[in-house]
Amino acid sequence: MHAPMSDVVVIGGGVAGCASALALARRGLSVRVLERNQGEGASWAAAGIIGPQLEAAGDGPLARLCLASRALYAELAASLVEATGIDVGYRQSGALRVAFTAEGREEIARELAWQREAGLTVEICDGDGARARAPALCDEVAGGAWLADEARIDPPSLMRALRIAAERAGVLFSTGATVRRIVVEREHARGAQLEDGTKIEAGWTVLAAGSWSSLLEASGLAPSAVRPVRGQIVELTPASPVLSQVVYGPGCYLSPRDDGRVLVGATMEFAGYVTAVTSRAVRDLLTAALRLAPALGDAPIGRTWAGLRPHPKDALPILGEGEIANLIFATGHFRNGVLLAPVTAKIVAALIAGEEPPLDLSPFSARRAGITG
Ligand SMILES: Cc1cc2nc3c(=O)[nH]c(=O)nc-3n(C[C@H](O)[C@H](O)[C@H](O)COP(=O)(O)OP(=O)(O)OC[C@H]3O[C@@H](n4cnc5c(N)ncnc54)[C@H](O)[C@@H]3O)c2cc1C
Repeated sequence: MHAPMSDVVVIGGGVAGCASALALARRGLSVRVLERNQGEGASWAAAGIIGPQLEAAGDGPLARLCLASRALYAELAASLVEATGIDVGYRQSGALRVAFTAEGREEIARELAWQREAGLTVEICDGDGARARAPALCDEVAGGAWLADEARIDPPSLMRALRIAAERAGVLFSTGATVRRIVVEREHARGAQLEDGTKIEAGWTVLAAGSWSSLLEASGLAPSAVRPVRGQIVELTPASPVLSQVVYGPGCYLSPRDDGRVLVGATMEFAGYVTAVTSRAVRDLLTAALRLAPALGDAPIGRTWAGLRPHPKDALPILGEGEIANLIFATGHFRNGVLLAPVTAKIVAALIAGEEPPLDLSPFSARRAGITG
């Protein structure tokens, strides 16, 4: 069976695939998204922290990519509200990174020194300064850094809005479509073949299958180029809001929602493709969260869940073309895929339109060591 040919076929309906599909459709291209089971991917499980400054270990290509994407978020969120009426929960809430000791506070200040030099907003604070921002923090907090430009979003709302906006822009979603391999003829990608043998032909193919990306045949990726890293989250539902900004503390982070919920995350585990929530993780996350903000101790536990972060060996995303022409990689976003959605979409759309990408993609090339099979 042959489906009608599209300009672009996108494999994977997570945040990378949906944001890319929307950007392509808004440029007038016909796009089909092939998704095995929407709702299963990491994008639905994420904590929604838009935190390039929290996440950056130092200055470098990944930090710059993350900062570029944060700068695009307000516009993406506004365009989604306009297209769908859905508030995706984008709030420039700011974030606190805190430590329990003076040495820890000094270490945070040292780690973030490059950000100040680069002109980013960083305010080093003591314990009282941190509690003035977030009164729920315990007396043990010895300070850290206030990062006023960091933000948060609600990933399930974002995913719903992206899908609806993409459909309204003309994107066709095939749900229940499991891709087995990339169709390659004369070193050019020609689309995708499903498990049932159906070939979906397209001028361009975008591989955005998250943690499952290297399981697809004929992509050119090494079998272990992208591995799943499980992240577990515990959702707390206090009777009234105790926090408005994101907090990174020892052993956990806290990501609040406007309705008062606080997501406590997240573990980092190589556990294969298993998404079970474990008692050890729940204990450890709650212990860390209650030490940081004891007021959360009275909060009922809402849901618990786990998702799989797509982890490349060097933790850098895989973006752009590799050895196979007309195959674009948009995968391997690891801890920052929600944050990186707008810039990923911009890169994919620019490459397919034959334009220069907004940033140098060489650090993220699929041709780098350990990624190509
Ligand atoms: C607990 C947790 C917390 C996180 N918190 C944050 C955060 O606060 N901020 C942030 O920026 N990032 C966060 N992340 C990371 C972020 O969620 C991921 O980087 C991002 O969602 C990856 O998006 P994706 O579209 O590449 O992958 P996914 O969302 O996993 O989507 C891939 C899709 O491809 C589909 N698929 C796979 N194989 C096939 C196939 N063969 N055929 C058809 N479809 C297929 C899957 O069903 C899936 O829907 C978190 C992740 C976890 C697990």
